[in-house]
Amino acid sequence: MLPLLTAVELYRFYHRGDDETAALRGISLQVRAGEFVALLGPSGSGKSTLLACLAGLDEPDGGYVEVMGRRMSRRPEAVRANLRARHIGILMQSANLFEHLTVEGNLRLQMSLAGRADRREIDSLLEVTGLTQRRLARPSQLSGGEAARAGLAVALSANPKVLLADEPTAEVDAATEASILSHLADRCRAGRALLVATHSQALAASADRLLLIRDGRLINA
Ligand code: ADP
Repeated sequence: MLPLLTAVELYRFYHRGDDETAALRGISLQVRAGEFVALLGPSGSGKSTLLACLAGLDEPDGGYVEVMGRRMSRRPEAVRANLRARHIGILMQSANLFEHLTVEGNLRLQMSLAGRADRREIDSLLEVTGLTQRRLARPSQLSGGEAARAGLAVALSANPKVLLADEPTAEVDAATEASILSHLADRCRAGRALLVATHSQALAASADRLLLIRDGRLINA
């Protein structure tokens, strides 16, 4: 079966004055339908850079990314944006919420952008993320943990084929983390794929496969 997401020999360098940091040094990976993959590595090892390149938010300096067999790297932004909108959900640490909309309004907007409108699914996402009581709050009224959960609900609401997430459960309590993990596992059983950068033992224990990254290289690929 065609992988949903493929990376081939990704390199990414950052320059600051005369200093060069090699954030990614030849990363190759594939994520297939139904897989739940956890990306583990110390701070500064390249996790966020890798997720940004896989999402087409950043361009690798070498190598390329394919989404559903179509190359995304070094294509015009309109092509990348289209591939992203149709196939990829992204949850980065900066929240993806519109300030002038309520939590529920943010979910409804994201679903309609993805061509979906399902009232029951909004209720279900609010429940999974523990936000039913906060559905009418605006982002500025949410705590850090609530904002992180609202960001996850928004990322899930488009029901993307591949969800890329950076520490999706960093600020949640154990009960909410368990509820989110069970929802993510259900999505994978339904053929969706998930690649998650995390420090959470619980999340890593739920994954089908672990990728270990250190100094910009996968050490168990
Ligand atoms: P992680 O997500 O695992 O903490 P990052 O991908 O954020 O790792 O960073 C990988 C390396 O690239 C680190 O050495 C970091 O300092 C460096 N880096 C990340 N972003 C930038 C940037 N915008 N400018 C310069 N260096 C960066």
